[in-house]
Amino acid sequence: MKYQQGLPEGIDLRSYDMIVVGAGYAGATCARRLAESCEMHVCVLERRDHIGGNAYDYYDEAGVLIHKYGPHIYHTTDERVDSFLSRFTDWSDYQHKVLANIDGTLMPVPFNHESLKLAFGEERGEELYQKLVATFGKDKKVPIMQLRAKKDEDLTEIANYVYEKVFLYYTMKQWGKSPDEIDPSITGRVPVFVGDDDRYFPQAPHQGMPTEGYTKLFERMLDHDLIDVFVGVDARDYLSVGESHILVDGAPFLGEVVYTGQLDELFGMDMGPLPYRTLDMKFETLEQDQFQPVATVNYTTSEDYTRITEFKLMTGQELPGVTTIMKEYSKAYDPESDETPYYAILEPESQERYESYRSRVAGLLNFHPVGRLAEYRYYDMDGVVASALDLSDEIISAHQ
Ligand code: FAD
Ligand code: UDP
Repeated sequence: MKYQQGLPEGIDLRSYDMIVVGAGYAGATCARRLAESCEMHVCVLERRDHIGGNAYDYYDEAGVLIHKYGPHIYHTTDERVDSFLSRFTDWSDYQHKVLANIDGTLMPVPFNHESLKLAFGEERGEELYQKLVATFGKDKKVPIMQLRAKKDEDLTEIANYVYEKVFLYYTMKQWGKSPDEIDPSITGRVPVFVGDDDRYFPQAPHQGMPTEGYTKLFERMLDHDLIDVFVGVDARDYLSVGESHILVDGAPFLGEVVYTGQLDELFGMDMGPLPYRTLDMKFETLEQDQFQPVATVNYTTSEDYTRITEFKLMTGQELPGVTTIMKEYSKAYDPESDETPYYAILEPESQERYESYRSRVAGLLNFHPVGRLAEYRYYDMDGVVASALDLSDEIISAHQ
């Protein structure tokens, strides 16, 4: 794979058919599709010193495979995404399970049949569970805000407990706001599960971990004769926004540009920065085989951090005597810092600001914003790949 630090002296970026900004899922997917479907010569510019975007993983000093930008578990219901990614990796059949530490007791989240019995006792828990089954049906997902809207005494009892013990404090830590104040789709990601499935992504037909890690998956995706990857290169040093085209070194670029960074950055944030939440991730290496019972424990009623992840339990790596854990502390993102903008803020005001930036690139020819940053969306990995596959189809058909 051609994968270089920095741009070589004298390189002519305008000689490429396509420039991709960012080597995460969005960028790598488009690069691969266009190189192999249209024989485009593709240049990928990545400002970090590695590929993979936020899914990047590597072995730390203790020899543990860790996810530098937070725990990533692959899960999808999208067959097309699964077939595409499976060309570049095999998957272990890891099924992600999360326990919430609720006042010192560990209970499954999403809150399920077992959690009800742990929270309310065997008998009352079963009664309440039967009420949920009678109301919503078995094996159904019920977002907490939907449950809260029900006017039934038993359902209100469950809703109040789950709201307070699972969502309220965790959401305050994660977003600085209560669940009532944020977009319901966010808490809807972790609905109450009316059933016994205790996986974090119940009923997802495809889930697991790439057997050799995410970075390997990206290396294979980008390994194509027509793709050149340059890391440690900030595209803004070479690309700027012109009247009708993106300018490369000051002159219009007539090829395609796939852009997976922040749109506000392209304009020097002249309409104000897009707000995000960021995370401080504190990694600790411990001299013990295992720290906690499952890969992720959410702290929903205590602690300043939201969750602790133990990577070995996710990747299945065998490494006796040592383990690495990571605590996540959420805070507002400062655009003047070198923090990572992890989560877009899904509020009307920030969406409006995003749309204003977006309207300024709408008239640019052959310019394609895609991905979690460029679309200002709360995408999982599969959602980003789906969006990039759709965009690739559009570009491919325009070139046929
Ligand atoms: P990114 O991965 O952010 O890639 C964009 C790349 O563009 C970056 O590498 C950036 O450096 C580069 N870039 C930006 N601007 C420039 C520039 N000017 N010049 C050059 N390069 C530039 N999804 C799941 O499916 N399962 C999970 O368990 C999961 N866990 C997550 C946990 C956390 C803490 C977070 C934050 C996200 C998680 N996700 C998960 C979501 C997942 O990380 C994203 O959906 C996916 O990685 C986004 O891919 P992307 O290509 O859109 O963006
Ligand atoms: N959430 C919560 N308690 C939990 C799990 C999730 O309050 O135990 C809420 C919280 O607002 C969080 C959102 O649900 O931001 C989505 O959770 P998810 O685990 O999907 O977040 P991510 O992994 O994307 O950070």
